[in-house]
Amino acid sequence: MSQISTGAEIEQLIMLLSRLPGLGPRSARRAVLHLIKKKQTLMIPLSAALDNAVEKVIICSTCGNIDTCNPCKICLDPRRENSGSLIVVQDVADLWALERAGAGAVRYHVLGGVLNPLDGIGPSDLFIDGLLKRAPGFKEIILALNATIEGQTTAHYISDHLSEYEIKITQLAHGVPVGGELDYLDDGTLTQALKARTDF
Ligand code: ZN
Repeated sequence: MSQISTGAEIEQLIMLLSRLPGLGPRSARRAVLHLIKKKQTLMIPLSAALDNAVEKVIICSTCGNIDTCNPCKICLDPRRENSGSLIVVQDVADLWALERAGAGAVRYHVLGGVLNPLDGIGPSDLFIDGLLKRAPGFKEIILALNATIEGQTTAHYISDHLSEYEIKITQLAHGVPVGGELDYLDDGTLTQALKARTDF
């Protein structure tokens, strides 16, 4: 990154912000400038919120979700107690997406990643042992992992390790997105959609 003549503190702020997803050095510089201009209304409250989050945010030891209490509020939610369905996701962002989509009174398990032998990520690097311990308490395990090679490898690994139990294991349907046009879909998606066709 080319240096600009400014204080070391500001440089450090730009460098740290530029590490956030979706923010390169250029947008980080713009964000820092904005923060400095809005010191009272944005920078000071943001700094306090970050301090607060550093102090209070923890990972739920049951499901791997992030919250300010352990177990998290989803694990403690009495409406989800008897649902019998556990949705397995890669990251907390996926849990949030499913909650936004109204997944219902379900429980979740956040793996914290997916298996990736090329990057040296094995089962012990993920929260898989916690899942294998919890899973027998559910009727259905819904594997909501990404439709990538790593996501599907992880799904197979989990399903193999749960095969000794009487648990229904399902996964999200892969296929035509809502509002999607067939001509624009890649061949893999179209093939999956054809295989996973449903009664009309
Ligand atoms: Zn939890």
